[in-house]
Amino acid sequence: MKNIPRLNFAHLPTHVEELPRLTTLLNGPRILVKRDDQTGLAFGGNKTRKLEFLIAEAQEQGADLLISGGALQSNHCRQTAAAAARYGFDCTLVLTGDAPSQPSANLLLDQMFGAEIVTVADRKDRDRILQKTFDNALKADRKPYLVPYGGSSPTGAMGYAFAMQEFINQHFKVDWIVFGTSSGGTHAGLVLGQRVFGFKGKVLGISIDEPEAQLKAHVSALASQASEKLGERINFTPDDVLANEEYCQAGYGVFGEGEREAIKLFASNEGLLLDPVYTGRAAAGMIDLIRKGFFKKNETVLFWHTGGQPALFADKYSQDLL
Ligand SMILES: *Cc1c(COP(=O)(O)O)cnc(C)c1O
Repeated sequence: MKNIPRLNFAHLPTHVEELPRLTTLLNGPRILVKRDDQTGLAFGGNKTRKLEFLIAEAQEQGADLLISGGALQSNHCRQTAAAAARYGFDCTLVLTGDAPSQPSANLLLDQMFGAEIVTVADRKDRDRILQKTFDNALKADRKPYLVPYGGSSPTGAMGYAFAMQEFINQHFKVDWIVFGTSSGGTHAGLVLGQRVFGFKGKVLGISIDEPEAQLKAHVSALASQASEKLGERINFTPDDVLANEEYCQAGYGVFGEGEREAIKLFASNEGLLLDPVYTGRAAAGMIDLIRKGFFKKNETVLFWHTGGQPALFADKYSQDLL
């Protein structure tokens, strides 16, 4: 296997815990959780693992400025801003939405880490403004490194290929891994790691905001590209990717009854916090699939917690939680 540049700041391996009260309540399969909400770096989350590889790549390229983009309450941007502060980069974030007069949650933290915020009112303009921000930095003689949306490049996906290896080495017998998938890096990494390191169970992504066909095409392409970093090209097809689009109809970041119930059930039965955008939706999907009998009762389902809890304190969500 090739040597891939990596920093080591994540708190690994993350714990795997039983959720016995939730298991009993739902009267379904045994449920475990992998605590990637506890990866360290500014409250943790799945972006920490990706950033270990992305920041190493930025350093290798001699960058002095990290540029990334996302939603106003992006967890990815919060963690990127924290990594920039920790490793001495400047950071500019291009965020979609109207900047509130009183920033809360992730947006507040971005600014505490010293990131410069550029807001874009309309999401369709974001790619263009992000590129312009990058080009302007070049013109100003900076050495910018573009951290892709969600950290989901082949480099970022390495974080989850090795996360799968870590999980296999923890020796839990698991039939399903369930998690929220959006920009695809987590999903692609897990699918690649499943193949390379030999995970026997199934890897099911609950789509947060994309139709299944699109997501499968994107994840399989990303996993194929990422495989080259490990030394040998593997061609993944959309059929190699399991995804469920049933729970994303409301659109990205739209908080509904499913998310509310999932957050409440996890909190009140297990003392475990989910987030309103990703893990709340993914858990709502998992709960619904359990109720529909999708998993067999003698199976074990691992909910891979990807973090995001700071968004619970965003004004946009906190008033709807109870
Ligand atoms: C970014 C994010 C995801 C989605 O991960 P991708 O690799 O972008 O698909 C899931 N959960 C949380 C909390 C996130 O911040």
